[in-house]
Amino acid sequence: MRLDIPTLLLVTFVLTFLVGVLFLLSWVQARGTRALAIWGVAHLGGAVASGGLALRGMIPDWVSIGVANAVMIAVYGLIWSGVRAFEGRTLRLALPVLGGGVFAVACLVPGFYESIAARVVLASSIAAGFCGASAYEIWRGRAERLVSRYPAMVLLCAYGLCYAIRIPAALIAPLPTGPDALQSPWVAILCFAAMLFTIAIAFTFMALTKERAERSQRLAASIDPLTGIANRRAFVREAEALLARPSPAALLLFDLDHFKRVNDTYGHAVGDGVLVAFCALGRALLPTERVFGRLGGEEFACLIPVDGPEEARRVAVRFGRAFAALRLPTLPNLRVGVSIGLAVSRPGDADFDALMRRADLALYRAKHNGRSRTELADVELPDARPDRSKAWAQAAE
Ligand code: GH3
Ligand code: MG
Ligand code: MG
Repeated sequence: MRLDIPTLLLVTFVLTFLVGVLFLLSWVQARGTRALAIWGVAHLGGAVASGGLALRGMIPDWVSIGVANAVMIAVYGLIWSGVRAFEGRTLRLALPVLGGGVFAVACLVPGFYESIAARVVLASSIAAGFCGASAYEIWRGRAERLVSRYPAMVLLCAYGLCYAIRIPAALIAPLPTGPDALQSPWVAILCFAAMLFTIAIAFTFMALTKERAERSQRLAASIDPLTGIANRRAFVREAEALLARPSPAALLLFDLDHFKRVNDTYGHAVGDGVLVAFCALGRALLPTERVFGRLGGEEFACLIPVDGPEEARRVAVRFGRAFAALRLPTLPNLRVGVSIGLAVSRPGDADFDALMRRADLALYRAKHNGRSRTELADVELPDARPDRSKAWAQAAE
């Protein structure tokens, strides 16, 4: 196979240009994602630079060597700035300009300009630095679990490494210069690799933005916007998964007491604040291995793995007391309370709807018996002897 360098340069120019346009089109549809605009401009700049390199011999050397390489270096800096924008960090656009500027100014020094090794060493060092820094920025943001981070990091590291290898290579075995340069297989391989990396990295950047958008849509569809806990749909889905485990679980149904009065007396915003405080308390006090969600309005639910009903009752009573003790310094007369209906799953019975019905009946009883209290399901049933809870606690063992 023979890699024809002018063809490769032409293909790189066209592809980089198209990728730049695609990034900008994606940005038009998602204006909030500034990284797309920066990567778009970077790729258009990359197309201009590769065009300048391709026209070597046809345009003045100072343009093809000095300007085109300076633009190419600034482009790597822009890629890095785009990654920083993607990660929500400050852009520092001066650094790409500085990177390209250093090379351009160095080209004004005749000794540097005439030495291909010096030019390769400087350009490769800056480009490798920007590639490595881009990979590092993506790694720093790993707390946000996006699968596409890993191919992006690997590709950027590999590309940076290619540039780093060019530094000793330029000193040990310099590339041919002059009219022979475009005949060298090494130049062809470098052009080919640069083209592949450009396309592959652009793909991973697109994948990163798409993955983030999908993730935030998924999250928005399962999170209650006011309180930040699972909404009803997500709660049911997660609760059914927990209930499918063989160990028993307790469902706590919460309904805030006289909540309408809180709204009527103090206003809807204070009501909202109470709901948020309720959830903050739930996050802090309910066992960590829980599923906690807002069923709607001032009704919440929590499913926790337990050894038996007594443990579940302890959790519910402790939580109910803590909530009733809630005081707001700015509204010293505000009193809140919650009624809790409690039902424990029977071993081997993963019927979530049935568990909900039982907890709901218990909640109704808690309201009926005076509010701000916890009632356990089934105790009023005719077969509910005092030792019944012990019986199925034993059965669960
Ligand atoms: P009970 O003790 O019998 O449960 O009385 P309650 O007043 O809590 O029950 P009711 O069902 O009559 O009222 C519930 C209130 O919850 C009515 C509604 O305005 C309020 N509410 C529902 N969702 C929200 C919300 O997101 N924010 C605020 N501030 N209030 C809400
Ligand atoms: Mg209610
Ligand atoms: Mg209520």
